[in-house]
Amino acid sequence: MKIAIAGAGAMGSRFGFMLHQAGNDVILIDKWEDHINEIRKNGLKVNLNGEMFTSYIPIYFPEEIAETKQKIDLILLFTKAMQLEDMLSALSTAIHSETKVLCLLNGIGHEDVIEKFMPKDNILIGITMWTAGLAGAGKAELIGDGSVELQNLAPKGKDYALEVVKILDQAGLHCKYSPDVRYSIWEKACVNGTVNGTCALLDATIAELGQTDVAVSIIKNILHEFVLVAKQERLILDEAAVLQKIIKTFDPNGIGNHYPSMHQDLVKNHRLTEVDYINGVVVRKGEKYGIDTPFCTLLTELIHAKEQLIGAK
Ligand code: NAD
Repeated sequence: MKIAIAGAGAMGSRFGFMLHQAGNDVILIDKWEDHINEIRKNGLKVNLNGEMFTSYIPIYFPEEIAETKQKIDLILLFTKAMQLEDMLSALSTAIHSETKVLCLLNGIGHEDVIEKFMPKDNILIGITMWTAGLAGAGKAELIGDGSVELQNLAPKGKDYALEVVKILDQAGLHCKYSPDVRYSIWEKACVNGTVNGTCALLDATIAELGQTDVAVSIIKNILHEFVLVAKQERLILDEAAVLQKIIKTFDPNGIGNHYPSMHQDLVKNHRLTEVDYINGVVVRKGEKYGIDTPFCTLLTELIHAKEQLIGAK
């Protein structure tokens, strides 16, 4: 099976590296010229929990894929959410009727974009608890442990989903088939939607946010909007259980001392955030269903204001 990682940034490098190390036929696809040149010249440099590796994985610009006439069986999507449609569009000539796709991006509703390019039967969606960072072009920092949950979007895709679970699991990615991955996707979006934007705006770690006496009140208000909107989509979130899950992230012995990814993107790296695909989705869906979402609306707008003030790209 030929696996293409479309979006070979931090997470794409992690999945590409681990799948390649396990002996799979892997290629990387990206648009960042310096990153591509660096990997072509010196290989992908990987710090895997303190152990250094150099991995010579072929890497291409999207438009080169059709030229090389490679038949890709599985595309693993790891762009940022706002780059997804552009990447799929650039790869459209390389997508054939049998090409399958697995989307593990953070956020809600990416399948609506993917369905513009391929049938529902060929789409797998999921979440991952792995993390990754980049120390510069061609340099991946892969620290810690993680897992993957995935499911086929249409019933027909189940056998293929199980095959992909096996491949990821054999590569050490700790993958399991989920019978209800939509719940996990929304639950993760609730965690990201309550903690990421607030920490980015407050310039705080998750534990620092948690120490304030208004943290739980802020989180409860944002979370409630996710719960109301999800209900309209026939997804019943256990609000109390999700709240406890979010509060658990404050623990400094867990991930509490970390800045969430939106903070890293915006404050540290001055990059645009995925807020439109986390809180912004709740706002758009709220409008559609006639549900007021003042907290998600304000958070989304404040993040956009900060992006503009910082000159994020
Ligand atoms: P990333 O920003 O590292 O990479 C995404 C794309 O941006 C890649 O094409 C990459 O080449 C490009 N890019 C990165 N830095 C760049 C730079 N300085 N200049 C130009 N282009 C650059 O994104 P990621 O962290 O791998 O996230 C991909 C998806 O996975 C997102 O939806 C994210 O929310 C999700 N996710 C990330 C993590 C994590 O720990 N990084 C964990 C779970 C889920």
